[in-house]
Amino acid sequence: MQPDDLTRQVRTRIHVCGCGCWVWTGATSHDGYGRFKHKGKVTVTHRYVYDKAFGDLDDDLTIDHLCDRHRTCCNPEHLEQITKTVNSERANQRRFHDAPPDTTNCTPIRPTNGEGEP
Ligand SMILES: [Zn+2]
Ligand SMILES: [Zn+2]
Repeated sequence: MQPDDLTRQVRTRIHVCGCGCWVWTGATSHDGYGRFKHKGKVTVTHRYVYDKAFGDLDDDLTIDHLCDRHRTCCNPEHLEQITKTVNSERANQRRFHDAPPDTTNCTPIRPTNGEGEP
């Protein structure tokens, strides 16, 4: 799947970084995750993209980011659906390996004008 497969509202706000991440350049919520209004409902971007890619989004499960370079990354290849228990176990483990994220391949994120023009 490519960003072009997504609805215009979403794909025009995704910047594909040199590291492979799909960085959301649109609005974010207080927790730092991307969001947008979809059919009148505020929707979390990476959950929406995950569902478009794999079609098995479960509201009781959490989406974990396998990459830690960009908090707003929504590349479905970097997302994994897991239980809340597994998520908190992973969060605990990560606290012990506080290595800074590897951003050597990152390219500057294109500024967005808020209109999401490509
Ligand atoms: Zn990523
Ligand atoms: Zn990057």
